[in-house]
Amino acid sequence: MLPEETNENRDAGIPEELHSFAEEGPFRKCTICDKDLEHLGLYEVQKVYRDKEVIFETAICQACGEDLSREMSSESMETMKGFMLCNFTPTEEPDHCHFCGYPKALFDNFTVIGACRELSLLLPLIIMCEKCSEELQGQLSEKTRDIQGDFIRDHFPGVPADLDLSPSVGTLF
Ligand SMILES: [Zn+2]
Ligand SMILES: [Zn+2]
Repeated sequence: MLPEETNENRDAGIPEELHSFAEEGPFRKCTICDKDLEHLGLYEVQKVYRDKEVIFETAICQACGEDLSREMSSESMETMKGFMLCNFTPTEEPDHCHFCGYPKALFDNFTVIGACRELSLLLPLIIMCEKCSEELQGQLSEKTRDIQGDFIRDHFPGVPADLDLSPSVGTLF
């Protein structure tokens, strides 16, 4: 019985929306460096849904997130930060797109983003609908989109490399 109890404790702080679909529980390792997230402090989880199914999921530690954002163009980083700051509207429950306010029940394609620290959630969940992530992606530079494409190709064979990541990895830190 002991291992099960330990699992319940592990799961307590991270909402199910941010659990790994593949691991059937909270993410344990950074997608990029493969280190144990429990000891790395801050990390960001991003899950992309199409037709309400997870097609892409990632957990990235702060150090890897910083490396990635350094590779992106500074205009794109500014664009992403600006988009977050100007359009983000907090809601009590994660049942609307946090950028356009459209009710989540009415769309099947969306992204869930969460910033976590070890086994707890640092910020409330962020939901972004496909329309808003396309709008944001449309404002990013070619270079940044290439880096995002490489990232997906390197770590997620089989996922289309032109998948819209939103708002990109690293901008939350
Ligand atoms: Zn890492
Ligand atoms: Zn939206």
